[in-house]
Amino acid sequence: MTDDTEFDALAGAHLDTLAIRAGITRSLEGEHAEPIFLTSSYVFDSAADAAARFSGDSPGNVYSRYTNPTVRTFEERIAALEGAEQAVGTASGMAAILSTCMALLKSGDHVICSRNVFGTTVNLFGKYMAKFGVEVSFVPLLELDQWRAAIRPNTAMLFVETPSNPLCEVADLAAMAELARASDSLLVVDNCFCTPALQTPLSLGADIVIHSATKYLDGQGRCVGGAVVGSHRHMEEVVTFLRTCGPTMSPFNAWVFLKGLETLRLRMEAHSRNALELAGWLQQQPGVERVFYAGLPDHPGHELARRQQRAFGGVLSFAVKGGRQQAWDVIDGVRIMSLTANLGDAKTTIVHPATTTHGRLSPGDRAAAGITDNLIRIAVGLEHVDDLRADLQRGLAAIA
Ligand SMILES: *Cc1c(COP(=O)(O)O)cnc(C)c1O
Repeated sequence: MTDDTEFDALAGAHLDTLAIRAGITRSLEGEHAEPIFLTSSYVFDSAADAAARFSGDSPGNVYSRYTNPTVRTFEERIAALEGAEQAVGTASGMAAILSTCMALLKSGDHVICSRNVFGTTVNLFGKYMAKFGVEVSFVPLLELDQWRAAIRPNTAMLFVETPSNPLCEVADLAAMAELARASDSLLVVDNCFCTPALQTPLSLGADIVIHSATKYLDGQGRCVGGAVVGSHRHMEEVVTFLRTCGPTMSPFNAWVFLKGLETLRLRMEAHSRNALELAGWLQQQPGVERVFYAGLPDHPGHELARRQQRAFGGVLSFAVKGGRQQAWDVIDGVRIMSLTANLGDAKTTIVHPATTTHGRLSPGDRAAAGITDNLIRIAVGLEHVDDLRADLQRGLAAIA
């Protein structure tokens, strides 16, 4: 903010405005765009000033592992968009999840995690948290009875991602928040797929929101980063962990994310519009067995997504008639879409989950998660939808 007048004017502003203006602090140069503070450390006015900043009596910067003005602008903007007291930038989405766990869990705690989360998240809980004495139960995203049954006296955290990847299953966040409250545990929501443009979990009762800024917050596939969002009380613990252990966000990346955020709402609407159109078209194609997208009225999560989200997002998946070979033939037949596992990019990406993103699951776990060999995931980008349709048509022609 330049001054208190501008700060007051943004109170209660729309998401579009906050995504462009929240968190700006101008330097004495009066620059219009956000500056990048590529500096590892800061000079002090005097020995007394140094002492005051080190002790925390003065709020000034000391070292960029602690604070950095560009990262702070990113954090204030994310907090404004999620409607949170505070956000903390991290080196990656995984660093955001790790920092949350290290800051808020202790040995002997129990975590209940959705089985349908990002694969690396499963490894983080199953391998590393387990190594430090945190027990983890994995349960199916939509089976609230199983979540309830899994609760123990030492349950400290429920971890969920909605909509899920790649089948777009939609979890009822308000119901999960109720469960978290009743069991005195924290509800942590990975909001990577929706972003605050489409869904604000804190407003539904979640305690903490996780972001991989690498995806839609950047929006153009340039940088790796993440964020943890929540109350001052919880973020204070996360900040202490980051300052001590170091997986902080780079100021250069923070600047790239700030530029990405300026177009967040427009992009999320366009991703969602393109995805909805492609999903409807795919449903009518003879080579397609089934389409998974919460924007389709026959998707089991449709009504809930309508209530909980502002649009249905950019990720969809579909099963082709046949098996793995047919799915691979369709993927190898497209010419515009990029064959890559990344998502949240202006460029449409296409991938075969069973042999890439979900390839490390056992065949049994994969079947339980509904990831069949004939399934293809698309993270729909911002190209013209007619060209994307023509590209899929090209792919489907390979199995016609
Ligand atoms: C990519 C992703 C992550 C991990 O983020 P990185 O920035 O790659 O560390 C976490 N959760 C979800 C849902 C993701 O898609």
